[in-house]
Amino acid sequence: VGDSKSFDREVKSVCSYCGVGCQLSFKVKDEKIAWVDGIDGPSNESRLCVKGRFGFDYIAHPHRLTKPLIRRDDAPAKGLNVDPANPFTHFREASWEEALDFAAKGMSRLRDDTGKRVAGFGSAKCSNEEAYLFQKLIRQGFGHNNVDHCTRLCHASSVAALLENVGGGGVTATFNEIENADVAIVIGANPTENHPVAATYFKQFAKRGGKLIIMDPRGQGLKRHSSHMLQFRPGTDVAMLNAIMHVIVEEELYDKQYIAGFTENWEAMKEHLTGFPPSKMSELCGIDEATLRDVARTFAGARAGMIFWGMGVSQHIHGTDNSRCLISLALMTGQIGRSGTGLHPLRGQNNVQGASDAGLIPMFLPDYQSVADDGVRSAFNEIWGGDIIDREKGLTVVEIMDAIHADEIRGMYILGENPAMSDPDADHARDALAKLEHLVVQDIFLTETANYADVILPSSAWPEKTGTVTNTNRQVQMGRPAVAPPGEAKEDWWITVELARRLGLDWSYTHPSQVFAEMKLSMKSFDNITWERLEKEAVTYPSLSPEDPGQPILFADGYPRPDGRARFTPANVTAPAEVPDEQYPMILTTGRQLEHWHTGSMTRRAAVLDWAEPEANASMHPKTLRRLGIEPGSIMKVETRRGAINIMARADRAVSEDMIFVPFAYVEASANILTNPKLDPVGKIPEFKFAACRVSATSAD
Ligand code: SF4
Repeated sequence: VGDSKSFDREVKSVCSYCGVGCQLSFKVKDEKIAWVDGIDGPSNESRLCVKGRFGFDYIAHPHRLTKPLIRRDDAPAKGLNVDPANPFTHFREASWEEALDFAAKGMSRLRDDTGKRVAGFGSAKCSNEEAYLFQKLIRQGFGHNNVDHCTRLCHASSVAALLENVGGGGVTATFNEIENADVAIVIGANPTENHPVAATYFKQFAKRGGKLIIMDPRGQGLKRHSSHMLQFRPGTDVAMLNAIMHVIVEEELYDKQYIAGFTENWEAMKEHLTGFPPSKMSELCGIDEATLRDVARTFAGARAGMIFWGMGVSQHIHGTDNSRCLISLALMTGQIGRSGTGLHPLRGQNNVQGASDAGLIPMFLPDYQSVADDGVRSAFNEIWGGDIIDREKGLTVVEIMDAIHADEIRGMYILGENPAMSDPDADHARDALAKLEHLVVQDIFLTETANYADVILPSSAWPEKTGTVTNTNRQVQMGRPAVAPPGEAKEDWWITVELARRLGLDWSYTHPSQVFAEMKLSMKSFDNITWERLEKEAVTYPSLSPEDPGQPILFADGYPRPDGRARFTPANVTAPAEVPDEQYPMILTTGRQLEHWHTGSMTRRAAVLDWAEPEANASMHPKTLRRLGIEPGSIMKVETRRGAINIMARADRAVSEDMIFVPFAYVEASANILTNPKLDPVGKIPEFKFAACRVSATSAD
């Protein structure tokens, strides 16, 4: 934050927090970012939220890693217990040469001598080029597909359902298309906290008379702008959505022409829905029949309707089924493929779309091309040189932690992810990290995960690097360096290239633009998009010609599936993996807060954001707090079958009376010590949004 009239230079780039991908201008004075302004990007039209405006001073925080570090020979057993006054006490400084050699030797020894696998977690906060290089290094350097990133914890189930039923994993329409809609459903998403600039478009939509239907077990900021607020029972999404679709079938509100022309499996879907009358589902989901019918009529009768969803939908063991229902709802009403219609899972991280597109997932090479497909593998083998790509799909995030415990994986390369905080059942994940023989962590801070490292490679924050990113709208945008990295820290792509060379790979990239050019050889989504174009403008993929700014709406003429048809996949009701009982009578749910980003490593080091939300807190309804004898502001104990935390109580009427909401940004009260690692069988995403817990007052305050 600085004097708005005085700066040395301005650098146009993209916000690196959420998937909205707001364009911004860094105002640099004395080689520091003095302040940030929004500029006219396609997704934000100069708007920024509090994180984009005030969230970048972390890059100059004294905790930044500025030199490579190697764990001391005399360091105690690996763990989180570092001395806060001297956090680097277990590490010694090293030269880049020594650290890179040490990192690569440890990994190649496991590869060559023991045959034990080295897995990789890349980052949705790095560029497309960095994500591509990371997955290529694991696949080419180690001969398997054990590479994943936080999409697994975010929208993996949504992508699985989209690929299955409409043939593409991206959004079918940009969120800005809400301007052309007259009804929008927002389910399991809290845009005012998690996609704040997108939320401003949603509010404008409501203000001009658009009907905003919110479906969420928690109340939220958009509630007061909504035409309908369905505060349904947690975990009953499928029952509620099937009941709404039942009404659409029963009252013949569906789009017969669209169904006949563009879909398959409709008769099976219709038959399936007979089992979900709203009169029966109403009690289960906690929404009265009249409201279910009204929502069905409102959405089916709309001229143009959109569906937005977030992690309240995806982070369940039935997350894929939840998304299947939303896709079916759009298909049967023909609310897809036209202006003001479509399906939009709001992506969380700034580049989770791009990192997934770039192949940072264990079952797909870039552009969601299956590793099991012989033709795909041979095409990549030709581009990469050699017969190197394994046909067996790799392990996902949580499965990798289990494989470490089973002694099947003994080494890891982790770039910009913090599984010690972000994985479910965090103690299980931390024990796995401690068990690794060789852990290479590449990051900008000594994160909780870096505490377990054998070698730490200091990298660049987003405003210090060059690279492209892809936002929730499929808009590919250029990020530019505003300032130099501190000390000896390096850009992530450079570090990955240096490690690859030491692993024996013949890599010769000297600039991210060369990586982008290679990506284009295998990624049709980048057709007509060039580095030179991105230097000048954002481009939405697919772009149909070198002049086309890109297609905001997909599937106007059919689907990239057999016969060009989308599919109805019926979904049944599945109970959450762990339901409340006498011992653990309440429901735990987790998520983000407006001011803090994910595991807090950046935002808790941003002065304004930390000032606004300085202390670990969890929200419960005031009546529940009273019933349990807990004063707002006091410390309470939250327990599940996996562990316990002590955290400050906050009263919040938006949380239903049987529930507690715990944000996962705070290491001193890690929400993920509590969460259930049970996975959705298709998307392999854990059930962060539902676990049985108990809450009690404590004298620890
Ligand atoms: Fe950054 Fe998202 Fe806020 Fe935009 S809405 S400024 S991308 S955090």
